[in-house]
Amino acid sequence: MARIVMKFGGTSMAGTERIRRVAGIVKRQQEAGHEVAVVVSAMAGETDRLVDFCREASPLYDPAEYDVVVASGEQVTAGLLALTLQAMGCKARSWLGWQLPFRTDEAYSKARIGDIETQALLASMAVGEIAVIPGFQGVSSDNRVATLGRGGSDTSAVAVAAAVKADRCDIYTDVDGVYTTDPRIVAKARKLNRITYEEMLELASVGSKVLQTRSVSLAMKEGVRVQVLSSFIDENAVPADDLPGTMIVSDEELEGIDMERQLITGIAADKNEAKVTLTRIADRPGTVAAIFGPLADASINVDMIIQNVAKDKGETDVTFTVPTADLARATALLEERKEEIGFFRMIADDNVAKISIVGVGMRSHAGIAATMFSTLAERGINIQAISTSEIKISVLINADETELAVRLLHTAYELDAKDAA
Ligand code: ASP
Ligand code: MG
Repeated sequence: MARIVMKFGGTSMAGTERIRRVAGIVKRQQEAGHEVAVVVSAMAGETDRLVDFCREASPLYDPAEYDVVVASGEQVTAGLLALTLQAMGCKARSWLGWQLPFRTDEAYSKARIGDIETQALLASMAVGEIAVIPGFQGVSSDNRVATLGRGGSDTSAVAVAAAVKADRCDIYTDVDGVYTTDPRIVAKARKLNRITYEEMLELASVGSKVLQTRSVSLAMKEGVRVQVLSSFIDENAVPADDLPGTMIVSDEELEGIDMERQLITGIAADKNEAKVTLTRIADRPGTVAAIFGPLADASINVDMIIQNVAKDKGETDVTFTVPTADLARATALLEERKEEIGFFRMIADDNVAKISIVGVGMRSHAGIAATMFSTLAERGINIQAISTSEIKISVLINADETELAVRLLHTAYELDAKDAA
């Protein structure tokens, strides 16, 4: 017998018919002999609708009251799933955030998780009752409803799994796992059987939005084994134990299973970065601080940075990227400080894309970056900036070449599915 936390997203919970489907999956999991807790999202679109109501009621809404409103979406689906399970002959009950309680701090609308009381929950699960827990919500130390921030149900599920020491946290969603790259770009993308927490974090931060990033960090910290899988499976499909989702596990666990790992696990493309170049700045201490200080003060996240060696007259150029959404603010801030920083021209370009290759294999292998650069060079794709971390290499290229670059790299690192045409 295992203890399993199952989480269903908004698309899986959208309407009576789909909730019945979910109940069927939950029931089968329990019938396979497991203790089961289920964490649910609000129906797809519901939280957006509730957020709009808050904005209409008061543009500068009080976050604590906003949480009272938006937490209601999950209360509805939790109750409906419990009712549906009961109608199928299962023992089931809902546990709202305040009932567990699922404790948080007082940062309403983006609360951090404190501790989760599990005694009553575990007692109920032990006698065969399916626990249905609304995601996204908790109760603050002031005894008020608090929510965890958009997409927070994934994090709720991982937190519950950690608290009850679950053997696994299965996240059911509308895709059947994590892919080597976006299957809409590369038809030969492959579903990964396993991926490490760190790789998942790097891929999530560059745009593969399967899970809320925070839930992956929490799973890594707490050592929760997370599985991503599709809820749109055959009614009579086998229980999740044998379903082919993607397991997110520790480096050590993976090493033990998969000796012949690919060097690169996944490739991500992100078009939400823009490039800024400041020309002919003085190559002396303090100049770079004068550029990035004000951006940091304005909470603008700078990602890639390159500075060339000084040419004549001790002058150089600096190029960096910021989120496209912050480009206008960033250029306005820098323009105001043109004298102080002492640049000649500012050139902004938002027609760029960041392509990242990610894999823990690069820790122990040389030549991975060289393959990336030569693959792109052979097809005349120009690299405008480069940044690296221990398990990731990112390059900035012209956005028009995104699809081509991802496809070429996918082939170069031997990620293409063997059976695809
Ligand atoms: N319903 C919430 C949202 O849409 C939380 C979640 O579904 O993860 O943000
Ligand atoms: Mg989600």
